[in-house]
Amino acid sequence: MEQRLEYRIFTYSTYMKHKFGTRVFRVGLSTGIKCPHRIKTGGCIFCNPETFTGEYQSRNLSIKEQLKDAVPRIKESCGDVKLLAYFQDDTSTAGDIDFLKKKFEQAISHPEIIGLVTSTRPDYVNDKIVELLCSFDVPVTIEIGMQSIHNKSLEFLNRGYTFKDVEKAIELCGNAGLTIGVHLIMGIPGENFNDMLETIKFVSSNRYIHQVKFHNLVVYKGTKLADMVDEIPLLSISEYIDGLAKLLPYLRGDIVISRLFTSNIGRTQIALGDFFGNKTKWMNELRKYIYKNNIVQGSETEVEYDYEKYKK
Ligand code: SF4
Repeated sequence: MEQRLEYRIFTYSTYMKHKFGTRVFRVGLSTGIKCPHRIKTGGCIFCNPETFTGEYQSRNLSIKEQLKDAVPRIKESCGDVKLLAYFQDDTSTAGDIDFLKKKFEQAISHPEIIGLVTSTRPDYVNDKIVELLCSFDVPVTIEIGMQSIHNKSLEFLNRGYTFKDVEKAIELCGNAGLTIGVHLIMGIPGENFNDMLETIKFVSSNRYIHQVKFHNLVVYKGTKLADMVDEIPLLSISEYIDGLAKLLPYLRGDIVISRLFTSNIGRTQIALGDFFGNKTKWMNELRKYIYKNNIVQGSETEVEYDYEKYKK
């Protein structure tokens, strides 16, 4: 039998096909809002805003113009796919509520857009934002930058919030019925395997979290992290793959994995490590590791992943 990753873990593409009955892509869009945390404090130690800008988005263009540029290109290269508007750069809920409403409405009114995804920090999730997101008549996902349950790690990364803030944001969005994804960094200096496992166990035990994006900690030039690299331990990519694979059995099998590696890594932006490279190769290494060690997502939880349930 063919050894495919989606037979062992709940991938985003499997979920999308299951939910919408077809292939679905995300179109990266920008509200143009700059991250207030970066403005106020200098930002997270790993943050390099240049890496947020996807191929199809430009901060200076209107949403209509961004879509006019992006949609035909995606259709040309990917064929007949459905699209989600993905507000992914900086902190995309940090603006004035009327301004955000206009931006999001412009995106979802496009005939090719069938849903909205917005990415933000836990301290920029509030009643008004949640109310706005719930008012749209398309599926909406809110991605919350959580990274870790450990306050010492959040402090080290200068995230500017605590785990309590994360819990509050998840509760608020979950109670309102929004689909929630969380971003996690695996391999934060100072965290060992058990620390990461505790974060995964929290995610698995939370009734509202539906999606996870895993990130390897990448050191970009010009960041505070780049100044520290000689003093801190960083995972190599093979250590990351090894650790991630060992954590997957503890991630509930009905939680969607929307990312396994930090993307958008341009060779020139990298300051250190073996993190520039070939995502396809890393996925392949992870796939081989998973099959060699007979790993299945969620096998150590009450919900083991079952491909048969989601395949189309
Ligand atoms: S919250 Fe996001 S955009 Fe803001 S400084 Fe941190 S990583 Fe950068």
